[in-house]
Amino acid sequence: MAESYDFDVLVIGAGPGGYVAAIRAAQLGLKTACAESRETLGGTCLNVGCIPSKALLHASEYFEAAAGGAMAKMGIKVTPELDLPAMHAQRIDAVKGLTGGIEFLFKKNKIEWLKGHASFESADTVKVGDRTVRAKNIVIATGSSVTPLPGVEIDEKIVVSSTGALELGKVPGHLVVIGGGVIGLELGSVWRRVGAKVTCVEFLDQILPGFDDDVRKEANKIFKKQGIEFRLGTKVTGVKVDGGKAMLTVEPAKGGASETIEADTVLVSIGRRPNTDGLGLEKAGLATNQRGQIETDHEFRTSVKGIWAIGDVIPGPMLAHKAEDEGIAVAENIAGLTGIVNHDVIPSVVYTMPEIAGVGLTEAQAKEHGEVKVGKFPMLANSRAKTNHEPDGFVKVIADAKTDRVLGVWMIASVAGTMIAQAARPWSSALHPRTSPTPATLTRPIQRRSRKRRWRFRASRFTSDVSREPRPSH
Ligand code: FAD
Ligand code: NAD
Repeated sequence: MAESYDFDVLVIGAGPGGYVAAIRAAQLGLKTACAESRETLGGTCLNVGCIPSKALLHASEYFEAAAGGAMAKMGIKVTPELDLPAMHAQRIDAVKGLTGGIEFLFKKNKIEWLKGHASFESADTVKVGDRTVRAKNIVIATGSSVTPLPGVEIDEKIVVSSTGALELGKVPGHLVVIGGGVIGLELGSVWRRVGAKVTCVEFLDQILPGFDDDVRKEANKIFKKQGIEFRLGTKVTGVKVDGGKAMLTVEPAKGGASETIEADTVLVSIGRRPNTDGLGLEKAGLATNQRGQIETDHEFRTSVKGIWAIGDVIPGPMLAHKAEDEGIAVAENIAGLTGIVNHDVIPSVVYTMPEIAGVGLTEAQAKEHGEVKVGKFPMLANSRAKTNHEPDGFVKVIADAKTDRVLGVWMIASVAGTMIAQAARPWSSALHPRTSPTPATLTRPIQRRSRKRRWRFRASRFTSDVSREPRPSH
């Protein structure tokens, strides 16, 4: 490292992208610091995202199995009593353990945690709190935060974001979820299972945009059967809070008469947007695209030499395992190795019951590029699913009609989050260097790992993992 630099690598943001990048950079012998403005490391995912939501999903699933008769069906008679403070305590405990684990890994790998909000002073200089540091390489891993809805003020008490919805002190009588995406369905499921009436207001004609259409329809049918009421093709035009209640004004998305819905709690979950406010990008000579994201090339270099970006702040799915893999790849690229992420094989899992998962192209996307074959297998015909009294859902495989090459796999099943890894594994190993290129439908060209010729694939932090070497885990 040239004397004038304080660090070889400064990572801004300690989420799954940032902390993984920092640890990998340090493991590769680079003098590394990580700036984080939160009180704890781990970013959205560990503090207010994946981990606490999964803690509540898991616990509430047990509650429903006991309360809803699934256990009784198997000869286990129980009458459960909800101890919400204890349910929250185990969530808080999970978060504490995992965020503390990252702090331990930082110390172990001699990564300096610069506490405070980071802002560029120039392309290689960043101010963090009272300290100004110079780094040869700077990785922007600032993540994302809740997209606000005009006319709706989030107070985190009555009108909550996902963060407030993880911490509700009592089960709401009526929870209205704005947005039938991943967060709305996961957190809506949590509170429905423990007794709330849940209404989901979705702007589009179907829930779960981005997922395969058959899966979206089936999910909608199953969640309706579970008791969630859906108002599809509906937009919220305002929310007023009065006397501890919320009054939502909704109208058809295509226009028409408005009506009101009363709620005890409103969850705003209409997406997330990249965090770049107050980062001083302009001082570094960087700009964002129309969606507020920082553009990079496939090595995660931005348009400014020495500045890199990964995770939710760059284009692509906002998923923790995507951010993590980008974190490893960017550190390897900075160290002069070849770090690659195959963005065509990033599975997505919704941790409801049943779970919903997919990887690759949807049927509609695949059809845009040519003729396809579709195979579908109902879980009802699967012996284990039947025996376990979990018959809902199916597995759908989309292949190129001429070559039989698999283009996408989508599923709803109690264990879809685990099975999706199985579906993607042969597919990702088929992407071996020197094999024929992926079809034009899989848009990115095959990239070759020049020094370590191995393809890496991570299905999900919560499922099996074919990673090439030990990595920080939580
Ligand atoms: P983040 O995790 O957002 O981390 C960025 C960090 O940077 C933050 O800690 C922030 O404080 C810090 N920061 C920002 N700006 C600055 C600055 N200027 N200076 C210093 N620090 C700064 N994904 C999954 O794959 N599976 C799931 O099950 C899942 N569940 C989720 C559930 C919820 C409720 C939510 C909200 C998200 C969930 N996600 C899930 C998405 C996942 O959390 C994100 O994709 C992931 O955290 C992105 O990682 P990141 O490192 O890019 O950013
Ligand atoms: P999302 O993009 O998944 O869903 C948002 C939904 O809100 C969409 O269906 C959209 O049509 C709808 N919507 C938008 N504006 C609306 C309006 N005005 N009125 C009604 N509906 C409206 O976003 P999310 O659920 O907020 O999740 C954010 C991100 O977090 C996602 O990108 C997801 O990848 C990530 N996440 C992942 C997991 C997981 O992997 N299990 C869990 C939670 C969150």
